[in-house]
Amino acid sequence: MNVVQPATQPLSAELIGRFRKIVGDKYAVTDTAEIAPYVTEERDLFHGKSPLVLRPGSTEEVSAICKLASEHRVALVPQGGNTGLVGGQTPHNGEVVVSLRRLDQIRDIDTASNTMTCEAGVVLQVAQQRASEVDRLFPLSLGAEGSCTIGGNLSTNAGGTTALAYGVAREMALGLQVVLADGRILNGLSKLKKDNTGYDLRNLFIGAEGTLGIITAATLKLFPKPHAIETAFVGLKSPAAALRLLSISQNEAAGTLTSFELLSDLAVHFSVRHGIDIRDPLSGSYPWYVLMELSSPRDDARAALESILAQGLENGVVEDAVIAANLSQRSAFWKLRDEMSAAQKPEGGSIKHDISVPVVAVPDFIEQANAAVMKLIPGARPVPFGHLGDGNIHYNVSQPVGGEAADFLARWNEVNAVVFDIVLRMGGSISAEHGIGVLKRDELPHVKDKVAIELMRGIKAMLDPLGIMNPGKVL
Ligand code: FAD
Repeated sequence: MNVVQPATQPLSAELIGRFRKIVGDKYAVTDTAEIAPYVTEERDLFHGKSPLVLRPGSTEEVSAICKLASEHRVALVPQGGNTGLVGGQTPHNGEVVVSLRRLDQIRDIDTASNTMTCEAGVVLQVAQQRASEVDRLFPLSLGAEGSCTIGGNLSTNAGGTTALAYGVAREMALGLQVVLADGRILNGLSKLKKDNTGYDLRNLFIGAEGTLGIITAATLKLFPKPHAIETAFVGLKSPAAALRLLSISQNEAAGTLTSFELLSDLAVHFSVRHGIDIRDPLSGSYPWYVLMELSSPRDDARAALESILAQGLENGVVEDAVIAANLSQRSAFWKLRDEMSAAQKPEGGSIKHDISVPVVAVPDFIEQANAAVMKLIPGARPVPFGHLGDGNIHYNVSQPVGGEAADFLARWNEVNAVVFDIVLRMGGSISAEHGIGVLKRDELPHVKDKVAIELMRGIKAMLDPLGIMNPGKVL
């Protein structure tokens, strides 16, 4: 997908030399082959171009880059793990990429305050591991956790599979260090839970997708490490049955219900068909599945999970279920779930949505969206899956079998229109957790409150008056 934007000025060799001086020769990339991984993303959906990728090694270097860019009106695209799904990290129009991956230090872990201060390029999985080593939990978890970064997670306000219990990335950050477009460094690396000293600047940068500044470090919350984790894979007849199981689970397990993922049969079949070493944990086939997890500091999770499933079977909500017997079975259940996005690619064109509606409306949403999409494109294959506990469904649609991918993808906007229409009627959001980027930028003014858009534009103009910070994204 190519995005048309105003042309950026070509960089002179002299200016490239000045940027090079800031980060050092080794970390200023100009070779086309070396630049390639920074300008495309793994699904091959977005392709950009850039004359220069800068890989700074400190906040001061990021600051010097922004100052120079600002003096010469050079557009910058901040990038972390390059796993974003809305084209926000791609230089669509020849911008300079600022890759934060070398900022990979964990500066401080404080188990008394339950905080961890990470640089922006720390990979999420590394942050999780370091927390675990000191008997704490950093709960953010998503399929891309082996490569996405803390800076990217905060800039997209990532959700993932534990938001049900711990909230989204925004709720896990106490403080931020941010370099502004003009190079000033906003030092807000606070460990404080309580700090009522004026406007909440931190939350401006979280979810801003790199359009307001570059996050260079963050102080994150740590949580008690659960000592009993129990995971079940459940077969059901319908999303309505899954909703009833969610209600039973929340009554029975209260705050220890950490994940509740709804999976359509097609999403499971694609993972099994295209993933390596993936199998359906249940012997029978069901139209819908739930992957649920309880995490408790005590040894009561197994009994609670068994009681939930017994109630579900008794009430006719659950058709069949299996509880992971050990860590490797638990990993196998999650692998099936985590492969779902990648497993759609071999099935041809896939039109993606990341929507949320009130939890109670999810079954109706799926029913109405399936009917509308299949009326629009007979043979289209809806592959809904996602975080039912958060009302967040990845409502993806695969092309009809035997059709042309290009013909199908040409109808992206039409499919979006019918799906978003249902979402908006239900009081939902067109972007639950992936962000706006370029993928939904043109849609945003039609679906968001007018005054909110005005305020967003005003904030952007104040913090980035020259428009050099990730131009053309979000707004
Ligand atoms: P990037 O992709 O590099 O960048 C994303 C955005 O943040 C861009 O706009 C970029 O400019 C900006 N940015 C990056 N770093 C900085 C920084 N330091 N300062 C300022 N701006 C910055 N997302 C979810 O929310 N939930 C999921 O369950 C989920 N599952 C996924 C599963 C798979 C298999 C994949 C491929 C992606 C998934 N994602 C999910 C999307 C993606 O992983 C998240 O958006 C993630 O937070 C992006 O992190 P990143 O480091 O890769 O950021």
